[in-house]
Amino acid sequence: MGRIVIMLGPPGAGKGTQAARLSVQLDLVHVSTGDLFRENLGRETPLGLKAREYMDKGALVPDELVLEMLEQRLTLDDCREGCLLDGFPRTQPQAEALERLVAERGWSVSAYNLEVPDGVLVERLSGRRVCRSDGSHIQHAVFAPPRVEGRCDTCGGELYQRDDDNEEVVGKRLEVYHRQTAPLLEFYSARGVLSAVDGNRAPETVLADLQRLAGEVA
Ligand code: AMP
Repeated sequence: MGRIVIMLGPPGAGKGTQAARLSVQLDLVHVSTGDLFRENLGRETPLGLKAREYMDKGALVPDELVLEMLEQRLTLDDCREGCLLDGFPRTQPQAEALERLVAERGWSVSAYNLEVPDGVLVERLSGRRVCRSDGSHIQHAVFAPPRVEGRCDTCGGELYQRDDDNEEVVGKRLEVYHRQTAPLLEFYSARGVLSAVDGNRAPETVLADLQRLAGEVA
């Protein structure tokens, strides 16, 4: 049976980093709506240009656009057994739409909430450097400085700072998270599919917990 694994948590909690690793372990494709928007923006598609208006301000892209993009992504062959979702759902209507898709396909759902205090998130996001070749390769100006200035330690790709990782937009993204996305914790908790994971630890330690939890419900 197919399955959907959902990575929940505020921006900077480590969803992308953990999703990239866990997806390999679970043999599920990693689907990040933020990466999909950034890819569209890189190609200057109408969707990417529209999404940018919201992303640059730290606001959420409207549900209709997100849902259309995600539904299309889920029809691709690599999602026939499900996927690991990172950055989706972020609103109640998105979560409800996902419930319908999952029910149609008879997939199981498990959700993991990476818990990290806001103060730590601001430090993580404002120093974050992302690899242009692979958005899941993440470094940090202070906590994980690259060996070669401006270059990704994993693949040598060019490191850059996301436009929405500046301090002003970070504050807005955290506020949006608490107002619009955090209520989903109650949604998944009520369905009995949510586990909390302390995300304020070394990445390998967090991954070990996720593997154990995801393995138990598989
Ligand atoms: P992320 O890479 O997950 O931090 O997402 C970057 C930005 O893309 C967010 O701040 C939103 O503007 C937009 N975005 C990504 N996923 C969603 C979503 N599920 N719903 C609405 N907006 C999204």
